[in-house]
Amino acid sequence: LTSGLEAAWSKLRGQEVLTKENIVEPMRDIRRALLEADVSLPVVRRFVQSVSDQAVGVGLIRGVRPDQQLVKIVHGELVKLMGGEVSELVFAKSGPTVILLAGLQGVGKTTVCAKLAFYLKKLGKSCMLVAGDVYRPAAIDQLVILGKQVDVPVYTAGTDVKPSEIAKQGLEKARKNNIDVVIVDTAGRLQIDKTMMDELKEVKQAINPTEVLLVVDAMTGQEAAALVTTFNLEVGITGAILTKLDGDSRGGAALSVKEVSGKPIKLVGRGERMEDLEPFYPERMAGRILGMGDVLSFVEKAQEVMRQEDAEELQKKIMSAKFDFNDFLKQTRAVARMGSMSRVIGMIPGMGKITPAQVREAEKSLKIMEAMIEAMTPEEREKPELLAESPVRRKRVAQDSGKTEQQVSQLVAQLFQMRVRMKNLMGVMDGGSIPALDN
Ligand code: GDP
Ligand code: MG
Repeated sequence: LTSGLEAAWSKLRGQEVLTKENIVEPMRDIRRALLEADVSLPVVRRFVQSVSDQAVGVGLIRGVRPDQQLVKIVHGELVKLMGGEVSELVFAKSGPTVILLAGLQGVGKTTVCAKLAFYLKKLGKSCMLVAGDVYRPAAIDQLVILGKQVDVPVYTAGTDVKPSEIAKQGLEKARKNNIDVVIVDTAGRLQIDKTMMDELKEVKQAINPTEVLLVVDAMTGQEAAALVTTFNLEVGITGAILTKLDGDSRGGAALSVKEVSGKPIKLVGRGERMEDLEPFYPERMAGRILGMGDVLSFVEKAQEVMRQEDAEELQKKIMSAKFDFNDFLKQTRAVARMGSMSRVIGMIPGMGKITPAQVREAEKSLKIMEAMIEAMTPEEREKPELLAESPVRRKRVAQDSGKTEQQVSQLVAQLFQMRVRMKNLMGVMDGGSIPALDN
């Protein structure tokens, strides 16, 4: 999608203004790029029409190239298409909030149950999971294991009870225990079928959920539009959760959900770990589609990890340029923990996608760094200047860690570079806002 769109912009380089004539070709590229990204045809038609109308309407703005202007318009339309604002989960005014999860088999419903509980716990809500997938005993076991992992109770009633009955019993139990949020897992099928829909309707009727969230795999192609439409018409959904956004998804599903159902994507899953669930930010998604990198997500993740790592102290050190090898180690390990390196790097604009080989390379170099830092004396770790000034010390570190002197020198240089970079990054975090679009 991104490269398709880049072709569109490039055709406008050297032009003075956007005209009916000179946008014909770029619009064709945009149309093609969207279709290739599995956005459904009616959605693409409306999108292209709307962008064209606006593009021809805009006058000349000093200092803004026409291709940048078109990027801006497309960005705005993408954001609008995905619902504009962040859509928060709705909570019940009294009694437990009930969240019913629906979706095809294998899209990530059961995983989402636990991820969502983990997410809500961080917001201070107590949660309970209900095992409503009665077709496979393994599905119940899976939910129980995940529930343990996030330390949340799971209500099960075996496979002989009707899902609607299980849901009702679970809700009853949650009420008694003053649980804030009940999350109900359901069975999926490989394809939409009547039994699944009837069952969902029955469960919905039995527990009157606050939210009915359709879980959609981001890899779903053209069918996403029909899928969302059907679930919405048959069962009635309040929103969607897009999973597996960490994969090679082409993004079409993200662009179609709101347009075809009127219901927003509320959350996205970006990996298999419990912490890999985040609110859905249309603005960022649009930025990502346009290839601008998911800067905000990156910064937020970094902030979160830093918080755990005693951010304030670290920040003070960085600001006063005292950032030493102990912090360096903490920092690099924190980054490693943030998730796969690829994801973090993928979020940095201009870096694009990196290969698994590059990921392994990055992990290897982390190990090498660790070995060298471990070979330093506590004093050297705190005062990297000592190493910068003394080849003898560097030689000793090299020998003790089994690395070359050159590698040690590189590491020392890297630390000083990092001081500068960290300072810049902190500046960004303090400022809080990163302009969505350069114009
Ligand atoms: P269900 O059939 O809808 O309940 O799907 P599951 O929750 O059992 O998930 C199916 C598979 O997808 C499991 O292997 C999950 O680990 C995996 N999965 C779920 N969410 C994500 C995600 O956001 N990213 C990735 N990469 N894998 C996911
Ligand atoms: Mg399941």
